[in-house]
Amino acid sequence: MSGPANTPAELSALVRDYALELGFDLVGIGPAAGFGEENELFGKWIDRGYAGEMKYLERGLPSRKETGRILEGARSIVSCALNYNTENPRSTEVGGDDRGWISRYAWGDDYHDVMGAMLDELARYVKDVSPKDAAARTYVDTGPVLEKAHAGRSGVGWLGKNTCLINQRAGSWLFLGEVITDVELEFDAPAADRCGTCTRCIDACPTGAIVEPYVLDARKCVSYLTIELKGNIPPELREGMENNVFGCDVCQDVCPWNRDALFTPKESFLPRRGLVAPELGSLMELSPEDFSEVFRKSPVKRAKRGGFVRNVLVAVGNSGNKKYIECVRALLEDEEPLVRAHAVWALRKLEGRECLCELSRLLETETDSGVVEEIRFAMDGAGD
Ligand code: SF4
Ligand code: SF4
Repeated sequence: MSGPANTPAELSALVRDYALELGFDLVGIGPAAGFGEENELFGKWIDRGYAGEMKYLERGLPSRKETGRILEGARSIVSCALNYNTENPRSTEVGGDDRGWISRYAWGDDYHDVMGAMLDELARYVKDVSPKDAAARTYVDTGPVLEKAHAGRSGVGWLGKNTCLINQRAGSWLFLGEVITDVELEFDAPAADRCGTCTRCIDACPTGAIVEPYVLDARKCVSYLTIELKGNIPPELREGMENNVFGCDVCQDVCPWNRDALFTPKESFLPRRGLVAPELGSLMELSPEDFSEVFRKSPVKRAKRGGFVRNVLVAVGNSGNKKYIECVRALLEDEEPLVRAHAVWALRKLEGRECLCELSRLLETETDSGVVEEIRFAMDGAGD
């Protein structure tokens, strides 16, 4: 164990070394002071409605502006990044009309658990080597912290036009987390923006969600639609979801800075069996029990079984693969209205007008207003 160190520079060197020793791939230290321009932009982004149903972002706005609300007397933030890239194909390299796509970050164990434990240990170390009574708090994605802005300010990477944090050497397949402390540390220099004239992510986004460089309309983003949105997916965005069933990697897969991205040695982030480009039929058939079993301690559990099968049905509808028709038909009787509604859409996409009589019969017995609306929408010509 190290005893208390003296100067901010000495402390920072110890903290950086220990973070790397713990297994973080990147570490940068910056001031805990709030952001001027970034906060204003974030507030405007929320005002424009781009956050969609993510009301917690608005609720956390005061704390995002003032880190002192999170930790009294906060002076420094240690931003840490953990690479989750593995040696597997990209979403842009996998084809076929029977394959879905789960975002790379969700192939292994839940990063909140993996990274949370590492950050807690780093926070313990910060307190250990600092002057008496130092305080430190940790965050991974769940708190009101402008994580990417802090990581950018501390030199971990720059905020790309796709709104991901990118590191010149490691790429953008990074989980971010922080230790916020009242200890005075020496700060790193911010990272320079290296996007230049590139617009690949904007051009490749299947739903046009990057409405201008560095600005994401989350309501259109496939990641939001498949993970955050709890209800029915807006019909006009379903085709743009393509085969994505949880998250979307397109704007990172096309980014030149990910061409030589590092691979993680962490076993917890290696893909669980069957999750890289999974077969759509097997996902459609997941019962609530199967879902809990397959996605135990996985980020995918956030979508819950109903939301996940909803996403799979959209991908199945987009696949055009008629071998799924019977399986979709079975889901018209699923106990979850969310699933029944999207089964209606998928069936209409796969069978065209042939299913209209069947849908009309369904109207006689369906009691959920959302599913009824979906049936009427399908009968009015969705999918023609
Ligand atoms: Fe577009 Fe997909 Fe990137 Fe969202 S995650 S901005 S939908 S490419
Ligand atoms: Fe920046 Fe190009 Fe990567 Fe988009 S694809 S984040 S513009 S470097």
